[in-house]
Amino acid sequence: MATFEPALFARINKPDSAALKTYQADGGYSRLKEFLSMAPGDVTNIVKDSGLRGRGGAGFPTGLKWTFLPKDHPGPIYLAINADESEPGTFNNRYLMELDPHQLIEGIILACHAIRSQKAYLYLRYEYGTSYRVLDAAIRECRAAGILGTNILGTGVNCDIVLHRGAGAYICGEETGLIESLEGKRAWPRIKPPFPAIEGLFRKPTIVNNVETLCCVTQILYRGTEWFKSIGVPPDPNNPRDPGSYGPKLYCVSGHVNRPCCVELPLGVTARELIEEHAGGVWKGRRAKAVVPGGISMGFLSSSELDTKLDFAGPGRVGCLGLGTAAVVVVDDQTSMVDVLYNCCRFMSHESCGQCTPCREGTAWMTKILERIRTGQGRSEDLDLLLEVAGSMGIIPGTTICGLSDGAAWPVKNAINKFRGEFEDYIRSRRASVTSAQKLMAVH
Ligand code: SF4
Repeated sequence: MATFEPALFARINKPDSAALKTYQADGGYSRLKEFLSMAPGDVTNIVKDSGLRGRGGAGFPTGLKWTFLPKDHPGPIYLAINADESEPGTFNNRYLMELDPHQLIEGIILACHAIRSQKAYLYLRYEYGTSYRVLDAAIRECRAAGILGTNILGTGVNCDIVLHRGAGAYICGEETGLIESLEGKRAWPRIKPPFPAIEGLFRKPTIVNNVETLCCVTQILYRGTEWFKSIGVPPDPNNPRDPGSYGPKLYCVSGHVNRPCCVELPLGVTARELIEEHAGGVWKGRRAKAVVPGGISMGFLSSSELDTKLDFAGPGRVGCLGLGTAAVVVVDDQTSMVDVLYNCCRFMSHESCGQCTPCREGTAWMTKILERIRTGQGRSEDLDLLLEVAGSMGIIPGTTICGLSDGAAWPVKNAINKFRGEFEDYIRSRRASVTSAQKLMAVH
């Protein structure tokens, strides 16, 4: 493979990388006037032809999503940018916002033009204070330079960005939860349909796109669709529903590695390559027992699945939910999978918004069963009980409003199916040690 040159991260190591002058010195905004003179449909077609799929988790084709807006709508139409980034282990958007905000702003302006929107709402995770300050300064710089506001660069196109800090909940990353939160309400996901493209923010047609996705839009417009399609994995000829996994991707690597990092690579690298070549290997000379491929809601790869390609289709081939946010979290061979799963369940139970009974109760039951196992009261049939609960909650079995429930169930299904022996040993040995402790106390 030819040497890969980072595009999304091309500028992040330059001094003053977040400044307008640094971005412009690299050619940033130099063709914005030309792109804004194009018909909106032509910009959409370029993005559609590139095969760009959303980087936020679901991997839906971006250009196709834009075409779902009602034709000839009098407006307003909104763009909402999902910068909530609350999936554990995910920090790629933070890099982009803090180190190259103008690449994102140009992508926002281009996307707004494509969807005929004059206003974008950037929903930012509350904890990202530095991102907020950097973005706020960059937006002000753009307004002063005529790059944002009315009549951008004399093209007659209007576009502005509202920076909105989130309230700090996982569910705000779900697109309709985000919309509700933007409207000032509790972030309860909405029943769909209607989908946001028809009825979204303030009940107007709305497109929700992720930060990295919009940075890819900038790169595609400047470098072309052929460049984008020369990177990544083409469609699987044996699967007519696979649109391929094109373009560069930011992979976050964290957990039990020597050098946690965020690295830009072609879609389709393996977990082994990420750990060994980019994250300095598993820490303390240990081995990887399990790897989360894209945020905990995607499940686990076992040690024998580390050569799985991390493109949009790869993790699904080994039983994971998908690529998700490509946030790779490594679990070493000294760590108990029972403890790992307990942490995942406790998090999801805490973050469930509570609207749907299978999600609200299911996440709480799974946490309680794992608590029972951890205190030595577990029974081997608890594993089947966990699988039964996990199998009955989520959009996939059709019992809930949003996908949080599937994301809570998947690590349970994967952990028990792939590490069942370890769970059984844990239950046996924990029960035995509690029983012998009880006997000892009875004697004394
Ligand atoms: Fe809320 Fe869970 Fe239902 Fe999603 S699935 S709406 S998080 S209760």
